[in-house]
Amino acid sequence: GGMNNLSVEEKVSIKSKNLDVLSEYKKVERKKAASFVVIGHVDAGKSTLMGRLLADLQAVDARTLEKYRREAEKIGKGSFALAWVLDQGSEERARGVTIDIATNKFETDKTAFTIVDAPGHRDFVPNMIAGASQADFAVLVIDASTGNFESGLKGQTKEHALLVRSMGVQKIVVAVNKMDTVEWDRERFEEIEQQISSFLTAAGFQPKNISFIPLSGFHGDNVTRRSEAPQAAWYQGRTLIEELDTSEPFSHALEKPLRMTIADVFRGGVQSPLSISGRIDAGSLQVGDQILIMPSGEKASIRSLEVDSAPADWAVAGQNIVLNLANIDPIHLRSGDVVCSPASPIQNLTSFTTKVLAFEHLMPMLVDIHRGRLHVPGRISRVVATLDKGSGAPVKKRPKIVAPGAVARIVVEMDQAVPLEAPARIVLRAGGNTVAAGLLES
Ligand code: GDP
Repeated sequence: GGMNNLSVEEKVSIKSKNLDVLSEYKKVERKKAASFVVIGHVDAGKSTLMGRLLADLQAVDARTLEKYRREAEKIGKGSFALAWVLDQGSEERARGVTIDIATNKFETDKTAFTIVDAPGHRDFVPNMIAGASQADFAVLVIDASTGNFESGLKGQTKEHALLVRSMGVQKIVVAVNKMDTVEWDRERFEEIEQQISSFLTAAGFQPKNISFIPLSGFHGDNVTRRSEAPQAAWYQGRTLIEELDTSEPFSHALEKPLRMTIADVFRGGVQSPLSISGRIDAGSLQVGDQILIMPSGEKASIRSLEVDSAPADWAVAGQNIVLNLANIDPIHLRSGDVVCSPASPIQNLTSFTTKVLAFEHLMPMLVDIHRGRLHVPGRISRVVATLDKGSGAPVKKRPKIVAPGAVARIVVEMDQAVPLEAPARIVLRAGGNTVAAGLLES
């Protein structure tokens, strides 16, 4: 990059405070962060339920809510006011700063939650895949009203649940919604619980990671407060928010080697001529650290950094950050690249084995490989076996073709070396469609 001013600049030396980042982090008691994806059949009440959570937990102010109520009533759709509370993403995404997918956040005393997919988008499945690739757990919304439950189970409910499980999501909270429409019928709830849990265990969820809550998003019963309906008195279990609060975030591995996928690269900022943003997936870093960028293998120095838009000396896994860099030519920095420490770098791969859920027929074919924002062209070079959905045991070795809905182990080759490691969440697309999604194995 001889044309570039930065590359001819002299090396900048940056003082490190040599902090023990983990003990700094542990000094302050703080809320855990957890993110989840919302799945379920269209009209199951996903948007209404999420709107209810945001409204009850004061993530939206009363005036905004009142405004939505008036507007919704004006067009004769009063029941939609809650669903409108959900940010549909466009504005935040246009700013595209640090947060990858959606920006709906709310907090309890214990946890700061992010809803990583705002339901209601037209192009739902690709959005859900993007959401599932970041989620700590899933909330499955089921419509308990007679008739709808059965059609939901046949439709998207199954597809969505299988998809999130294939992407490595282990915990699922089932919100049995619209209980008001069936007079809080306990038998109805138990019938749904039994059917959905046998389906979810067949899809590979462990019974201990599945929970069911009878609720009404619209009325707010058993969401953030216990239902006062006399017919609902039989249920003494957790409310939805109590259940969400028990969730352990899976991805915030503080003690593991540093990993951060670059979301955006900015040049010519006020603070610094060159910055990158992203969410730290694992490990920690501090001002003065040297980092390694893969796949280029180039090093850079951290001049300064921001956590959630505020200046900071250090940052850890789970935080959204901006790094202001020195001593690197910007041509080595691209969205999708991986930041790691020179001591324990991520490897560049040109092929890998993955266990996927097939959405369309799979066979040796050309595909685009997506991991978060990173995507590269390549091909399925081999189908190793089809697998049992629950146990993962081989069903048929070396099949010629994998049918939609089946789980299979396949080998994928890429046209260029890409920084990847298990258990990365992988999506394969072809001709504009998602053909498979799953976890990288080796
Ligand atoms: P989504 O497509 O899954 O996001 O569903 P929506 O949140 O848009 O809800 C679909 C319809 O179900 C709307 O008319 C809602 O008002 C209605 N609805 C949602 N939750 C409840 C509930 O708990 N009880 C009742 N009676 N209706 C609900």
